[in-house]
Amino acid sequence: TARWILRPIDRLTETADALGNGNLSARSKLGRSDEIGVLGNRIDEMADRIEALLVTEKELLANVAHELRTPLTRIGVALDLAGEGDSEAARAALSEIAVDVTELEAIVDDILTAMRAEVAGTLPLRKAVVEPRSIADASASRMLQRHPERPFTVTVADELPAIDADPMLFRRVIDNLLENAHKYSPDRSTPIDLTVTRDVDRVCFVVEDRGIGISAEDLPRVFTPFFRGDRSRSRETGGVGLGLTLAKRIVEAHQGTIEVASEVGNGTTVRVRVPWIA
Ligand code: ADP
Repeated sequence: TARWILRPIDRLTETADALGNGNLSARSKLGRSDEIGVLGNRIDEMADRIEALLVTEKELLANVAHELRTPLTRIGVALDLAGEGDSEAARAALSEIAVDVTELEAIVDDILTAMRAEVAGTLPLRKAVVEPRSIADASASRMLQRHPERPFTVTVADELPAIDADPMLFRRVIDNLLENAHKYSPDRSTPIDLTVTRDVDRVCFVVEDRGIGISAEDLPRVFTPFFRGDRSRSRETGGVGLGLTLAKRIVEAHQGTIEVASEVGNGTTVRVRVPWIA
C-alpha cells in the first residue's frame, strides 16, 4: 500500500522538479482517478497553461520587435535621404518620418492600453457626449490619408443620436477595424465600406471588406490576445494580434457589442453596436 501511494508522489515530485528546471513539456501523466490522480491532472493542466502562456509571450515579443522594426527602418532611410538632398527632399522625407512616428505611437499605445486593461481588469474611460458622425469622419480621413488608392465609402445616417463614449478610444476601434479591412484585402482595388446607422436603441458602426476572410475555425479566436490567423502570420501584413482584442475590450467598456461575420475568399463584416444617450 505504501508503494502504491509513494510511487505517484515520487512522479509528482519529479514532474515538479522538471518543470521548475525549465522542462516545460514535463507531465506527471498519472492516469488514476483517485485524489492523487486528480492532483496529477491539475498539475499537468497547469503546466499546459504555463507552456501556452510562455509560447504566446515569445510570439508577442517577436511580433512587437518586427512591428517596431519596419517603421524604424523606414525612418532611418528617410533620415539618410533628408541629410543628402536639398531642402524640398528633406521636407518630403520629414513628412514620411512623421507618418512612421504616428504608426510607432499607435503600436505602443495599443500595447500600453492592453496592458493597462489587463492590470486594472477594465479600461478607464474619459467619456463625453459624442456625435457618431464625428468618429466616422475622423476615422475616414485617417483612412484616406493612409490608403488614398483604396476605394472607400462612408455612409452615415441622418440625425443619429449621440453616444456616451471616450472619443479617443472609440475612434481607435474604428481605426483598427478599417486598418484590418485594408490589411486583409490584398487586392487593393476591392472596396471597403464604413456605414453608421441606428438600431432600435443602439448606434451601429459596420466595417465591411471583400478581402481574404476568416476561416470558421479561426473566427472564434480572433478576439484572443495575440491571436493571428495562420495566413496573417505568413503574410507580411504587420500586426501583433491585439487590434480586435482591444476593440472588444473598448466596446464592452461602453456596454456595447462587437460581432464578426466572415467567409474565406468573400470578405469580412464587423458590427459594433453601442447604446445611444436617451
Ligand atoms: P492583427 O491584425 O494585428 O494580426 P487583430 O487582433 O486585429 O490582429 O486580428 C486578429 C486576426 O484576425 C488577424 O491576424 C487576422 O487573421 C484576422 N482578421 C482580423 N480582421 C480581419 C479582416 N478584416 N479580414 C480577414 N482577417 C481578419
